[in-house]
Amino acid sequence: MGSAPAPPPRQFKLARESELRVEVGAAAPLRVRLLSGTAEIFGAELPPENWLPIPPRSKIAIFTWHGATIELDGISEVEYVADETPMVSYVNVHAILDGRRTHAKASQGSGLDASQGPRVIVVGPTDSGKSTLCRMLLSWASKQGWKPTFVDLDIGQGSITIPGCIAATPVEMPIDAVEGIPLEMPIVYFYGHTTPNVNADLYKVLMKELAQTLEKQFSGNAESRAAGMVINTMGWVEGLGYELLLQAVDTFKANVVLVLGQEKLCSMLKEVLKSKPNVDIVKLHKSEGVVLRNQKVRQKARSFRIREYFYGLSNDLSPHSNIINFSDVSIYRIGGGPQAPRSALPIGAEPVADPTRVVAVNINRDLLHLVLAVSYAKEPDQIISSNVAGFIYVTDIDIQRKKIVCLTPCPGELPSKILVVGTLTWLEG
Ligand code: ADP
Repeated sequence: MGSAPAPPPRQFKLARESELRVEVGAAAPLRVRLLSGTAEIFGAELPPENWLPIPPRSKIAIFTWHGATIELDGISEVEYVADETPMVSYVNVHAILDGRRTHAKASQGSGLDASQGPRVIVVGPTDSGKSTLCRMLLSWASKQGWKPTFVDLDIGQGSITIPGCIAATPVEMPIDAVEGIPLEMPIVYFYGHTTPNVNADLYKVLMKELAQTLEKQFSGNAESRAAGMVINTMGWVEGLGYELLLQAVDTFKANVVLVLGQEKLCSMLKEVLKSKPNVDIVKLHKSEGVVLRNQKVRQKARSFRIREYFYGLSNDLSPHSNIINFSDVSIYRIGGGPQAPRSALPIGAEPVADPTRVVAVNINRDLLHLVLAVSYAKEPDQIISSNVAGFIYVTDIDIQRKKIVCLTPCPGELPSKILVVGTLTWLEG
């Protein structure tokens, strides 16, 4: 463990269009302040003079368009200045999107198509900087007064809510480097697994549900419609992953595809989407600053996301331990039994398991350490088309007294009696 004394505060003079990249460790406190000039962290401007705490495990870049002096205080694992970044190309994309938003706004009254702002989907392999680019595009847009909708389809490392979900939320101000996305009322659909191949059909159905909900909102809200969407995707770009990307482009009617750092993916998409002349495909360079995360780091990040849901980013929330009678809730899973891959079946045979069948689950100790979603559904057959209110974490099952002991984010009764379970687990720690 690092027992080395913290280094003294140090200053970095950044030339225009350069960035200071910093990687913070798990426990080490680090803070940053802007001494002169202007700088931003992934699109959100740094306030002058004030110290800004950087949360543990963050990997950030403090970028300046016109030059800045930055001071760091505390312990970091990595800190260096880079003057080669793809930021100019990213901000050029923003400028084009901004023009389209203005055009859409001016075209209100000329039909739904003309008044629709850009629907941007960001694709690329894992660790190509997709989430970061989404964040910057959203922050830059909101800084100019737009309220774009952020759609996160990444069930592995989503930024709106816990893993295993697809979700959307409007972004009304630049996304704070520390706090992340402020959540008023995100629309969340629970898939329940962290990889799409567990039930790809369900993933597709949920994308459609989310898209329909957004479409409805847009039709009654010209402002959101003109601001458009920024859609983040999973890093799985081969095979089924690729198929799901194409499906996402289709389902959300994306008209700008930003491809990060992969020539092959870009040319494949150009070929397939040739038939859709209104879809622009733009290849962008990946930033050298994007930090690679291995399987273990990803797993840990997932676990921290769930912890953050219940306890807050800096332990500022106090979840409640609730006791629920078995008879007070009904638990369902989606998908009828394990799905046989089509390739394992005789030619012409269809897999028997229905991937979107809703199945009642017996309450037993198999539910231990699982994270369940609290559905807004009133009846089981509404589960797939309903978004979720929140999540509970099963800490104990008392078979004899027929009680579920669970962690909930707030006290009191659950907003609904219908719970949904998948394979999403969490070991509190
Ligand atoms: P993806 O969404 O493609 O998996 P992310 O955008 O989440 O990739 O980036 C991976 C990690 O790299 C994140 O922790 C992010 O904060 C960090 N990162 C991205 N860009 C930079 C940069 N320019 N400098 C330092 N860290 C960065």
